[in-house]
Amino acid sequence: MLTLVVLVRFRTGAAIARLAGRVSSRGWVQGLVAAPLWLLILSALEIPASLLGHRLSLHFGLSIEGWPAWWMDWLKSTVLTLLLGVLVLGILYRLMRRSPRRWWLWFWAFTVPVVVLLTFVAPLIVDPLFNHFTPLANTDPALVEQLERVAARGGLQIPPDRIFLMDASRRFTGANAYVTGLGASKRIVVWDTTIRIETPNEILFTYGHEQGHYVLHHIAKGIAFSAVVIFVFYWIAFRLMRWLVRTRAAGWGIDAVESWSSLGLALLLATVLGFLAEPIANTFSRSIEHQADVYGQEVIHGLVPDAQAATVSSFCSDALVWLDDPGPNRFVEFWSYSHPSTEERAEFAAHYDPWLPGRTPKYFSK
Ligand SMILES: [Zn+2]
Repeated sequence: MLTLVVLVRFRTGAAIARLAGRVSSRGWVQGLVAAPLWLLILSALEIPASLLGHRLSLHFGLSIEGWPAWWMDWLKSTVLTLLLGVLVLGILYRLMRRSPRRWWLWFWAFTVPVVVLLTFVAPLIVDPLFNHFTPLANTDPALVEQLERVAARGGLQIPPDRIFLMDASRRFTGANAYVTGLGASKRIVVWDTTIRIETPNEILFTYGHEQGHYVLHHIAKGIAFSAVVIFVFYWIAFRLMRWLVRTRAAGWGIDAVESWSSLGLALLLATVLGFLAEPIANTFSRSIEHQADVYGQEVIHGLVPDAQAATVSSFCSDALVWLDDPGPNRFVEFWSYSHPSTEERAEFAAHYDPWLPGRTPKYFSK
């Protein structure tokens, strides 16, 4: 944010817009110069922190990925960001020109279907660029049989070819699993590290938690929730952009909202607003993660000897390998944690026994 503030104040936007103006007088060609330049500046600004992050991960054994492979990942994601970013920014500036008062609304109407489309294609096109996925049944049919029991108890028919194993061990040492995709691309992915680290009962809980996301439609609910949040934030961005350009931007070399010279300011606003939206997104995420924990613990009841113990030990063994802070500062947790802290999750699980007399499970009947 600070570097963007400095770039905007030192009239970088005007310099880049002038350069783009020399290439062509057409707005969209100028965008093909200005947008990639700004996106490359943003990527370059993030390199030092990313390098430090990877160095620390290697030092503490969280990652085992060598530097050449790490740079290859960086290159691939930068190219993806450039392609998608140029397209999105091109459309944003076209809408700004067409509709100076309503562009934020049209841009929202464009963003929501794009998010849906990206969610659908991510596991088919994007994820395979970074990892190798094989149906879990190919390598571990016995485990899939166990997982099918969890699915059956949830009244589900998750086809075995929707459960994938990911070769996370080429990068990470810690365990993880997740649900991704939408409709025909929806699937459950288990990291291969999980199979090495967790005991069979812990794996059943980890899988049960993901099945919770799957059956409770958390991906679709997440998209609906973010559609509401970005509606509000786009409107705020529209008002801020208009106000800043009217009152301040002459000194920054920005002549109009819809001019390419405002792109740095637009990216700065997106960064600041994105940061302010984090606690909203994370509070929502923590609530669905808690639901998935409750579901996961209930769905393995009767399939493992002690569902409470399996749940607690699953949280603890994951946290140990990830060197997780079990009880982070409450404010840090509120702002930046997508899951409740390990301590909270384990505490809840240890005391949650809906099968006791007088209590009722949330997702299953007794
Ligand atoms: Zn989850």
